[in-house]
Amino acid sequence: MNFEFDERAREMRDRVETFFRTEILPLNPAYRRALKADPAEARAIVRTLQDKARNLGLWNLAVPGLDEDAPGVRLTNLQFAPLAEIMGRLHWASEVFNCHAPDVPNMEVLAKYGTPEQKRRWLAPLLNAEIRSCFGMTEPDVASSDANNIATRIERVGDEFVINGRKWFATAAANPDCRLCVLVGVTDPDAPRGRRHSVVLVPMDSPGLEIVRKIPVFHHVDETSPHTELRLENVRIPVSNLLGKQGEGFAVGQARLGPARIHHCMRAIGTCEVLIQLMYERAGARKTFGRAVIENANVRDMIASSRLELEQCRLMIHRAAWTIDTHGDHAARRDIALIKVAVARAYQAIADRALQIFGAMGVTDDTPVAAAFTQARAFRIYDGPDEVHLRGIFGMEKPGAAGESRFYLS
Ligand SMILES: Cc1cc2nc3c(=O)[nH]c(=O)nc-3n(C[C@H](O)[C@H](O)[C@H](O)COP(=O)(O)OP(=O)(O)OC[C@H]3O[C@@H](n4cnc5c(N)ncnc54)[C@H](O)[C@@H]3O)c2cc1C
Repeated sequence: MNFEFDERAREMRDRVETFFRTEILPLNPAYRRALKADPAEARAIVRTLQDKARNLGLWNLAVPGLDEDAPGVRLTNLQFAPLAEIMGRLHWASEVFNCHAPDVPNMEVLAKYGTPEQKRRWLAPLLNAEIRSCFGMTEPDVASSDANNIATRIERVGDEFVINGRKWFATAAANPDCRLCVLVGVTDPDAPRGRRHSVVLVPMDSPGLEIVRKIPVFHHVDETSPHTELRLENVRIPVSNLLGKQGEGFAVGQARLGPARIHHCMRAIGTCEVLIQLMYERAGARKTFGRAVIENANVRDMIASSRLELEQCRLMIHRAAWTIDTHGDHAARRDIALIKVAVARAYQAIADRALQIFGAMGVTDDTPVAAAFTQARAFRIYDGPDEVHLRGIFGMEKPGAAGESRFYLS
């Protein structure tokens, strides 16, 4: 294992860092104001920056399996890790480089499983940031952390699939640019477990597909990527919109969830770096009882513990990235489950400490701390709750060689 970033990664990291500091960060106050006043204005800021990033070749950095003729830079997961960290410092920065969720994981599955026509119709505009997309798996009526429960029905009638069901938390579905829902549902109810579900591509303007509402998360509606409830009533799509093979929906879904999870983890490390920096500066700048807050040993412990947890998580992420690059997604499934739990927990702990150190200001919208805290809390649920990943990690534990334990137990 060699975690040294190669020359390509170092060069790209420096270029993304420069672009972030000179072009994106100075616009953050304007972006935040625009988001409150008119989301379309905020989108215009992102579009202008996207054009600049694309012209500099800082575009589509997160999809290793791009076709030869597709626009973008083919980086490995390990090469992308330090770039994703930089993007993670601001919640809207990834989109500037067309490296944001849920579009990137959707691009990955389209690149891997899409037919030439599906790639032409959906992947090409996603790679050019002409459209957005969403992922429709979770349903309000069933415990969706067990994918076997997903109940939305996809029934074949002649040359069409007819879809009926409810979805919620489809992130970005209510974004005005969202044109595609990558949807999981039941095509083969009588097949053995694990072979009943398929993934289909549903155009958002399909008759019968209704956007029910944008769901507030912790009292807040994300206007750029709203978590959205959808109702599908007799939605008809051609059978050619099947992604991958019928009954292999879980395999397609897994190909999507691996990148989704590791990228969220990489970005979270970037957010945590900002939180540590902010809590260090804030605690140094305020005085109580005759000395700076940072002079207190417990506050120093809070900052040092955050550093400890962040560095542990960063190393685990790099190992997961290296394992995917070297041995493939399947070999990395334990590492991905480990980082999903470890990073979400560390992220929540670090955001909680930052919030405490900021006092009342920490719970306002005047700093990124409150948003990070709620994001971190939600991260322990989305992309699979902690418990489900722990279940998977436990399932991969193996007993030692037969009879060997007795030598430890004398
Ligand atoms: C901000 C956000 C964005 C999201 N974006 C998307 C999206 O874009 N597309 C999408 O399809 N979904 C999305 N989701 C949904 C998310 O993936 C699901 O909420 C998650 O998979 C859990 O499903 P559930 O809510 O039905 O919880 P349930 O399955 O009902 O589980 C509830 C709780 O039960 C416990 N539990 C479950 N299984 C076990 C077990 N085996 N052992 C012990 N305890 C267990 C856990 O504590 C779990 O949190 C998003 C969610 C959030 C919060």
